[in-house]
Amino acid sequence: MIYREYGTTGKKVSLLGFGGMRFANIDDYDGCAGIMVKAAEGGVTYFDTAPDYFGVKSETVFGRGFAELRRRKLPYYTATKTFKTTEDDIRREIDAQLKRLDIPAIDFYHVWCITSLENWASRKKDGILTTFRKLKEEGLIRHICVSSHLIQDEIETLLMEGVFEGVLFGYSAYNFKTREKAFNAIRAKQLGAVVMNPLGGGIIPEHPELFGFIRREGESPVEAGLRFLWDHQDITVTLVGFRSEQDVAEALSAMENYSPRTPAELQAVKEKAESSFEGLCTGCAYCDDCPQGIPIPRYMDAYNQKLLSKDGDAALKQRLAMHWVISPADAGKCVACGQCESACTQHIPIIERLGYIAKAG
Ligand code: SF4
Ligand code: SF4
Repeated sequence: MIYREYGTTGKKVSLLGFGGMRFANIDDYDGCAGIMVKAAEGGVTYFDTAPDYFGVKSETVFGRGFAELRRRKLPYYTATKTFKTTEDDIRREIDAQLKRLDIPAIDFYHVWCITSLENWASRKKDGILTTFRKLKEEGLIRHICVSSHLIQDEIETLLMEGVFEGVLFGYSAYNFKTREKAFNAIRAKQLGAVVMNPLGGGIIPEHPELFGFIRREGESPVEAGLRFLWDHQDITVTLVGFRSEQDVAEALSAMENYSPRTPAELQAVKEKAESSFEGLCTGCAYCDDCPQGIPIPRYMDAYNQKLLSKDGDAALKQRLAMHWVISPADAGKCVACGQCESACTQHIPIIERLGYIAKAG
């Protein structure tokens, strides 16, 4: 196992992290706790959950798992999150979380899922930062972190505020262009960087030909997807949502066989993405200056889901509602001026796709 420094916290955590959002049989608490033990025996020390993964069941499983890790003297760090914003609500939430997790303090506590800078401003207005700082002073949380769906300049702006010690965001060989700018702030502010969805929500293993550009001979799509992230020296933890002990074994084996590329080799691999992703949006955001205020890269990413996921339109709608939190109908605000299509490096028929999305909603 490789361990990396989490920002300036003084904590060294495992590069392979445990995500508690995909257990195959969440009602088997002991079985799920056993998956955590397998991971910890393989050297995993970073465990991430949330109060809304399978309701509160994931946090409950984690509590059982942590008790077992203590019994076996295996080290671990806890990460969880809150959507709450007012002090009363956050205190009620964290009280319940500490009980479920069966621990006296949370190592990495996240302001959960910032979807826009306006959304972040509104949470600050409710006093979220003051409350998080009080919780830290009281020893109930150890580090103030954020999870975000922001892209491009927005994520850099959020992190450059300098109020967080670490960040959790989606990043993979599928969407790396969308969030590359986060790393400017991560380096400048010396933040811990935890990435989720390392396999693009299953898209990478489902489309091995499309992601051939990241693979070495003999490597599985899962190994290649993880190595693409592990090669990135600014990434502290790569979260994998483990369903079973078999998933843990596969990821640990990828770590055991891992041989890094140089930064120059990684850059050369990234440059192949554009030609490999013909017809797909890469999230570069060169088009993101619509006079109608349409967030084009977000809509085009959702359309990618329609093209790549076996769930088609349902995947498109889910991406808009759950990930980007935008309405399909707003895609209909396009007046077909053509500015975005002239800027698009991938020659995406943006106007046509926006029309499809507006109707599909
Ligand atoms: S074509 Fe539509 S989406 Fe593109 S910039 Fe013009 S109004 Fe915006
Ligand atoms: S639609 Fe084109 S220009 Fe816009 S983000 Fe996607 S690839 Fe980049």
